[in-house]
Amino acid sequence: MFSGKTEELIRRLNRAKIARQRVEIFKPALDTRYHVEDVVSHNATSIRSTPVPVAQEILLLAGGCDVVGIDEAQFFDESLVEVCVQLANRGSRVIVAGLDMDFLGKPFGPMPALMAVAEYVTKVHAVCVCCGEIASYSFRMAASEDKILLGETDAYEARCRPCFLDGMQEKATLETASSHKH
Ligand SMILES: [Zn+2]
Repeated sequence: MFSGKTEELIRRLNRAKIARQRVEIFKPALDTRYHVEDVVSHNATSIRSTPVPVAQEILLLAGGCDVVGIDEAQFFDESLVEVCVQLANRGSRVIVAGLDMDFLGKPFGPMPALMAVAEYVTKVHAVCVCCGEIASYSFRMAASEDKILLGETDAYEARCRPCFLDGMQEKATLETASSHKH
């Protein structure tokens, strides 16, 4: 979320553009946080993208592309894996950015399978807001258990493993305390 995944995606796609390759970027249609047509990263460097309701649609729209970028891939369902494999088999270079773990620290949607079939995997890291160590986890501040709580910056914090575990334990303690009041 704060790790620069989208910035890295944009950087790679811009390099492909400079090399005069045909580039298309897709993202799940549900991610309408900023602009519908742009992949916008947190530091506001943006690049035009096409929102699609289902992964299958990428196959229809990406015909003839040298490079296919996919952002927020964790919000697609498992069918994205087969779509990416087909694109790669057709000869496209496929670059996928997404969160590897959800707010419970569990593998997120199609990401683990995508990492398995990818030739290369780059993990970019945020900085823990509590202690400054390298952060791999997204700690959710709000109590909602909904997996898709679109990330306004105050809804999540980047945390390292120990600070994530501390936070989860704190939440569990608070929940027990409040359930005893009923
Ligand atoms: Zn920490």
